[in-house]
Amino acid sequence: MNKIFAVTALALAASITTGVQAQEFPAKDKVLTMVVPFAAGGPTDRVARDLAEAMRKPLGGISIVIDNAAGAGSTIGNAKVARANADGYTVLVTHVGMATTPVLYRKLSYNYETDFEYLGMINDVPMTLIGKPQLEAKNFAELRSWIGKNAGKVNLGNAGIGSASHLCGLLFQSELKTEMTTVPYKGTAPAIADLIGGQIDLLCDQTTNTTAQIEGKKVIPYAVTTLKRLNTPALKDLPTLDESGLKNFQVTIWHGMYAPKGTPAPVLKKLNDALKVALKDPEFIKKQEGLGAVVVTDKRVEPAEHKKFVQAEVARFGPVIKAAGVYAD
Ligand code: ASP
Repeated sequence: MNKIFAVTALALAASITTGVQAQEFPAKDKVLTMVVPFAAGGPTDRVARDLAEAMRKPLGGISIVIDNAAGAGSTIGNAKVARANADGYTVLVTHVGMATTPVLYRKLSYNYETDFEYLGMINDVPMTLIGKPQLEAKNFAELRSWIGKNAGKVNLGNAGIGSASHLCGLLFQSELKTEMTTVPYKGTAPAIADLIGGQIDLLCDQTTNTTAQIEGKKVIPYAVTTLKRLNTPALKDLPTLDESGLKNFQVTIWHGMYAPKGTPAPVLKKLNDALKVALKDPEFIKKQEGLGAVVVTDKRVEPAEHKKFVQAEVARFGPVIKAAGVYAD
């Protein structure tokens, strides 16, 4: 009897706590931490900072801080969120790495399907292949012949195993049937700084990071990784890799938002509602479009649909990555 009472009382207390949490969420005196698993100043960081600004108002003006838990191709930051308090005050903003790391890493300390609540997708972002300003190759045909002549000496930066730049680089090397030395960074912000300084030769990176550098003529742009040319003014004259001879070469990157497993459903609903408001914010859309990104308006912004999409991405990348034969422990 006592035991039953204790269990019932506990259940009641839990449901009251959940109810109170949801009602109060987001509390004025709390801070929402948006974990970005890559370095500050890079493309995922850019998306998260713009999104944080757009989500602040629909979340009652709450303070949102960005925590750059960078390293190991996003897996450090992902693990941090998987283990965080499931109270709605910690969320993860990451990219396609959510789907590539489960395939690339033999062991991960989290499970991408069961350790997260999916909040929704944010955007689709093309990538660009860029080179250091010192390179004599000024277009893709010249770059291809330069790579041929320098076989074994070319190096290519990336943001760690499982990152978008890693994936793009893998596909690029496999298409050219050549091997390059890859140089991993904690994100592509430090990689692009080294590219500009001439320490690395090439980088494949999201337009959300490369557009300003291309406009400022700090790097040499060779091509975009979409099948069609882009509309963005700064990028519209760039050829696609497909038209440059790498038939069907296509890599587009997406970003999404996640909370730790067990975050109460009403809190998740408030976060998802705020995300939807942000994705319709004209300022947010303008900033993203100016950087070549396309803000998501379809059903992938619904948590269940986004989860299905990520599961399909894992299935899609499995064979590509297995064929490339790269794994990390
Ligand atoms: N662009 C990076 C990548 O290659 C990630 C980042 O720094 O945001 O995945």
